[in-house]
Formats: sequence, structure tokens, C-alpha cells
Amino acid sequence: MSLRPILIHPDPRLKKVCAPVAEITPEIRALARDMLETMYDAPGVGLAAPQVGVLQRLFVMDCVKEEGADPRPMVLINPEITWASEETAAYEEGCLSIPEQYAEVRRPLQVQMRWTDLEGATQEAAFDGLWATCAQHELDHLDGKLFIDHLGPIKRQLITRRMVKLKRERARAG
Ligand SMILES: [Zn+2]
Repeated sequence: MSLRPILIHPDPRLKKVCAPVAEITPEIRALARDMLETMYDAPGVGLAAPQVGVLQRLFVMDCVKEEGADPRPMVLINPEITWASEETAAYEEGCLSIPEQYAEVRRPLQVQMRWTDLEGATQEAAFDGLWATCAQHELDHLDGKLFIDHLGPIKRQLITRRMVKLKRERARAG
């Protein structure tokens, strides 16, 4: 297992629509393991393949937050929403590709999702609370969409300018 570098916005690879995973190969299994390790290390509750530069439809998440609770690592391959509640909720979101920037995003309160697991089996589950927010945020990544794309243009441009500055500072330091 190894940590993979996380791309920071703005990056053209974060704006691409990702391709479906055609087959669960050893490379896909290794990618999923690395993504989980990278997500826990960050730390974060979700990470999508394009955030580590792989333009394929796959994300990982674990939204267990309770102290001492067992982790619940999930790998969702070719995920799709099969149902979304009419009721919406606003949560403050962040993103490992947009460090230390947070904003409220309104999304359906609950979603039902269908995906393929690492064994190639079809899975379906309902998510709510933080799990629903995270699952929708990560699915957006696979369509080249970031949480700041849900904000107004002024807020989005402000955050993007901060990220350009951050990347410049990191490049200078590195
Ligand atoms: Zn994100």
C-alpha cells in the first residue's frame, strides 16, 4: 500500500468526466487500497479517483465519526444514484482537493445508490446524514464537479484564487 498525492484545485484533471471501470483488475484493487489509506491519512471521509489523478469512476468513503467505533471503509465502483429524497439539507462541506475551505451546500437529504464492489457484485444502499452528503460530493467528482461549483460565482472565484496562491506557495517551498 502507498499514499498517493492528492491533486489540488485548480487542476484540469478535476474537471473531467471520468470513464466507467470496465473490469476489476489487480490495479483497481491496489488503487482502492491506496485511496483508502490516503483518505485516512489526510484525514478525510471521502476520496474520488480523479483526486489522485485516475480518471475512472470509483470513490472511497468512511463517514464513521464516533470515537472508538469500528471503521467502515467503502469502495464504490461505477456508482449511480437510483433515488433521491425531495427533502434537502445544507451541510458545511470541505474537500481534500480544496484544503481548509468550507461552505454550505444544499443537496438531497437522502439518496439511494447502486454500485459495483471490489468482488464485482452489485450493491445498493440508502445513505443519509453525512453519508448522503459525502456520497453525492464524491459522485460529483466523477463528473468533474467540485463542491464550489454549487456556490455562487463570487464565492467560487474567491476560493479558487486562494488555491492558486496556495499552489504557488507550495511550489516555491517544495
Ligand atoms: Zn472533494
